[in-house]
Amino acid sequence: MATIASGLQAVKLRINKAAKTPVALLAVSKTWPAQAIREAHAAGQKAFGESYVQEALGKMQELSGLDLEWHFIGPVQGNKAKAIAEHFDWVHSIDREKIALKLSEARPGNLPPLQVCIQVNISGEASKSGVPPDEVPHLAQFVSGLPKLRLRGLMAIPEPTRDERLRRARFAELRQLKGRLCESGFDLDTLSMGMSEDLESAILEGATMVRVGSAIFGTRNKK
Ligand SMILES: *Cc1c(COP(=O)(O)O)cnc(C)c1O
Repeated sequence: MATIASGLQAVKLRINKAAKTPVALLAVSKTWPAQAIREAHAAGQKAFGESYVQEALGKMQELSGLDLEWHFIGPVQGNKAKAIAEHFDWVHSIDREKIALKLSEARPGNLPPLQVCIQVNISGEASKSGVPPDEVPHLAQFVSGLPKLRLRGLMAIPEPTRDERLRRARFAELRQLKGRLCESGFDLDTLSMGMSEDLESAILEGATMVRVGSAIFGTRNKK
């Protein structure tokens, strides 16, 4: 039977095979119980990604004794911004000014700034969430001016495809967009892209953080 430790190990091997420079692994634990996170943590994993606020808060409470880093990767609803700002270390899915402002305002003063990425809707993005590429510089400017947010980079979820060239082209688009932002003065170090199915393509195009769920924990039941 596949265990979480062996899933983690297999994913790390895939990452190391594809990567020339270190790539961070975010274990996407959405829909899995606290016990699964406990197992992954025992196998050395510290950073976990969640998409549903209520579900995540429950797990955080259960696991409060562990030294974990929590990343919010789902769409941010206005009425959930406060809870996210209070309990997460990172948010990968900033897609509008209003949400960025709410998160900054709700971030408790005793915590370090919330580390954030702007979610970009690169061509053909299945979920249709994220900002169109041409609006990213404006949003990046806005986010950079907020005191309790620290803009780290860009995130995207391209539509799944078996076409390797198309995959690579979409990830390359995000890398180039980050490159242009850095040239214009933004200090960005994060490209959050690549999941269980396509992490190698993302890494070959410069991903610095891959978000991997099913290849570690197993197939999720549809929510
Ligand atoms: C669920 C999810 C993932 C992980 O997907 P897998 O295919 O299970 O690896 C990554 N990123 C986001 C934003 C997700 O919602």
